Amino acid sequence: MIKIQNVSKSFGSLDVLHDISTEIGRGDVVAIIGPSGSGKSTLLRCINLLETPTKGSIFIDGDEITAPKADVMKIRQKIGMVFQHFYLFPHMTVLDNLTYAPVKVKGVTKEAAEAKARELLARVGLSDKADVFPARLSGGQKQRVAIARSLAMEPEIMLFDEPTSALDPEMVKEVLEVMKGLAESGMTMAIVTHEMNFAREVADRICFLDGGRLVEEAPPEEFFTSPRSERAKQFLEKML
Ligand code: ADP
Ligand code: MG
Repeated sequence: MIKIQNVSKSFGSLDVLHDISTEIGRGDVVAIIGPSGSGKSTLLRCINLLETPTKGSIFIDGDEITAPKADVMKIRQKIGMVFQHFYLFPHMTVLDNLTYAPVKVKGVTKEAAEAKARELLARVGLSDKADVFPARLSGGQKQRVAIARSLAMEPEIMLFDEPTSALDPEMVKEVLEVMKGLAESGMTMAIVTHEMNFAREVADRICFLDGGRLVEEAPPEEFFTSPRSERAKQFLEKML
């Protein structure tokens, strides 16, 4: 579903990604892990064109999204993204946060958008919060709303960039549970995370980045029990 082909990215003279190639199949869940500054966020941002690769190509469903004439709006509609910080619209209720883009961007009727929003709030366990403002929610609740808001656009792919890193420890689990449910529902997902147990349990594959290179790619069991590269071994020793 996603094909990343020889992607490199530089910011000025700083080379951040070096010749990354990988594929993510429909329904696959890929965890992207690696040290801080290794290029994880940049890689994720290239997939929805928040960054443009300096070299290489990215295909989604066979369409080259990095082609000069690619329809960026259409591509972005296929892809939901959830960040470490939630960026909810503070002046809107939870329900309005979920219905705003479907109505404005996709032209869904208000009634249909609300019905969908309520269904999604139930799915993330927040049916009772439809009418409150984000300031009244805990961090974990805000992040679950952010996930529901992304899902309201009916994306085919969901990208997560350290979705639990800004949360108090007691709220991490509720967000990971929602993500696990989403994975089980067959969503195609790429997740940058430091939650190793989650990656091991939920991901089909681990991509380990270091210094902007895709150093190792393996099923979780293999990666966590017998990493091939010295760099992955050292990283895991620090993390586990
Ligand atoms: P990670 O998510 O693995 O921590 P990032 O992808 O955020 O890594 O960053 C990789 C490197 O690219 C870092 O050295 C970072 O400072 C640099 N970088 C990221 N975004 C930009 C940018 N917009 N301009 C300049 N440098 C950037
Ligand atoms: Mg990052």
